Amino acid sequence: MNTINYLWTPPATASLPVRGTSARYPVKRIFLVGRNYHAHALEMGAPVDKASARPMYFTKSNSALVESGATVPYPPATADYHYEMELVVALGAPGFRVAPDAAGAMIYGYACGLDMTRRDLQAAARAKGHPWDVAKNVEQSAVISEIVPANELGVLSSGAITLALNGETRQSADLSDLIWSLPELIADLSTYYHLAPGDLIYTGTPEGVGEVRPGDRLHGRIAGVGEIELTIGAPE
Ligand code: MN
Repeated sequence: MNTINYLWTPPATASLPVRGTSARYPVKRIFLVGRNYHAHALEMGAPVDKASARPMYFTKSNSALVESGATVPYPPATADYHYEMELVVALGAPGFRVAPDAAGAMIYGYACGLDMTRRDLQAAARAKGHPWDVAKNVEQSAVISEIVPANELGVLSSGAITLALNGETRQSADLSDLIWSLPELIADLSTYYHLAPGDLIYTGTPEGVGEVRPGDRLHGRIAGVGEIELTIGAPE
């Protein structure tokens, strides 16, 4: 047996629980879509004209993943940490330059996600034309629920998506408000990447984003998919 001799123990493969099975979903990459609901694009001061625009993407490291139900410390280097409630698509098949018609078949399942964001650093990066990494790829900022297999859900195109902060609804929209549909996103993203099983796509947040403070509790829901919870702890 030819085992690799590592200098130290390599990090474990990131994985997520799947509803209805004890087998876990192994994560390959985390893609996120910016500005995919008109009302949120407007509140960010960057309206989207679908006729002339393409979706905008960024990524987070697998080490940013944290499962629903966690308490995470208020992160360092920000004074304006924001929630963004999102539908997450979990791919279960490969695809490169796929047509939208074929993209739905690549979906393994769905999850509720929170794309937690250092909004102050994002605004500063935007103003200077700098990358978004320190604003978006925050440790423990890719919050996610269990994966729900797509079997009976098919390709989601509607359903309520909501987020409550300390029991008060802050985001309330419908998946039918997505500017780019799930097949359109997968097809477009596959023009840049050889998409693969284990790739997660956070599909963007609706309007109503806002800041959290230590002690806050977030509770999101997506009709047919499930729920997600996060508690913000004290800063480290
Ligand atoms: Mn987002």
